[in-house]
Amino acid sequence: MMDLILKNGFLFDPAAGLDGKQGDLAVTDGRITAVGNVSGEAAKVIDVSGLTVVPGLIDFHAHFYSGGTNTSLEYSRYAAGGVTGACDAGSAGDSNIESFISALSEQERRNAKLYINAASEGLSCLGDHPEIINPKYFNVRKICRLAERYPDLIRGIKIRISREITEISGTTSMDALRGAVEVGEAAGLPVSVHMPNFVGELKELIDILRPGDIFCHVFTPQRGILTEDGSVSKEMFRAREKGIILESACGKGHFGHDCARRAIAAGLFPDIISGDFTRNTYFCEPAVSLTYLMSRFLALGMTLEQVMRCVTTKPAEILGISDEVGSLKEGLRANITVLDRRSGEIRFTDVKGDTVTGQELLVPEITVIEGEIAYRNFNTIR
Ligand SMILES: [Zn+2]
Repeated sequence: MMDLILKNGFLFDPAAGLDGKQGDLAVTDGRITAVGNVSGEAAKVIDVSGLTVVPGLIDFHAHFYSGGTNTSLEYSRYAAGGVTGACDAGSAGDSNIESFISALSEQERRNAKLYINAASEGLSCLGDHPEIINPKYFNVRKICRLAERYPDLIRGIKIRISREITEISGTTSMDALRGAVEVGEAAGLPVSVHMPNFVGELKELIDILRPGDIFCHVFTPQRGILTEDGSVSKEMFRAREKGIILESACGKGHFGHDCARRAIAAGLFPDIISGDFTRNTYFCEPAVSLTYLMSRFLALGMTLEQVMRCVTTKPAEILGISDEVGSLKEGLRANITVLDRRSGEIRFTDVKGDTVTGQELLVPEITVIEGEIAYRNFNTIR
């Protein structure tokens, strides 16, 4: 007997060749066991007709070190946003990441990934004062040891190089970034750089980053990828060719419609759409939730297929977990999101008050993690 059947949904997962046709999806022992026309008995059958069944969403940029920082969310809160897997973006550094790891449940450990902050204290005091990013304080050997000890969890190095952080730290944006890349080299891990309001030349920043490193908050309304005349810097196209990953994490104020519009018009699409939610931003405007940000990119002209890749296959690939999650293929872990594609005019506002109007809002209805229902809206109770 099967554990769960989601019946009559529109199955959408381009990676598995599912283009939105109606069908069923069966789950047994935490795995996807059948896709298409499913017959037979199941402990639970949910009629999801009218709704769209997609791979469980991955939020590549999360903050869930809830006991160790001022701003992080509890991991369990992501399910209500349709998220089944999340990667913490540097909330902890080498001094506290083991306390962070020990607080995660077994299921969380299987579905979470972590970027370790190059700064020892991570983002523990964020909201009060920033972390110290001077490379002379980086504990390279300890970070390497931790990366070796937790290879299934620690997947990258995080560094923030904004002016307000370098000033406190007694370093420069480029020196801090160079130091973080040295740590990444030593540990064999990619580096994610939070770059809004960096000091120095974009060309140098792109020179320092290696293929596979993450350029985070790519559509920032602060100093970022636009030149003085407002066009997208040609350096960004070189970054793309070099294999640098472009991540649009929103957060409180790290996303601007003007920048995103110009970039998308120039053909510079994000590789990853992520939330960067904290206690103060989750379910609040302008970021709200991952599916809200996805809807915003639909309004900006991306297709559902493009948007879905940015929250499923691409982050899974970058985190090295695509043989387990990020698709609805049979045999994969049963991490599944059911969405209501609600049509109707919707106006999105960014941190500067700039608006864009869309025609569709993606609303999470059910979140399934390893075959268990982690969240359910009431619309499928009939
Ligand atoms: Zn962040």
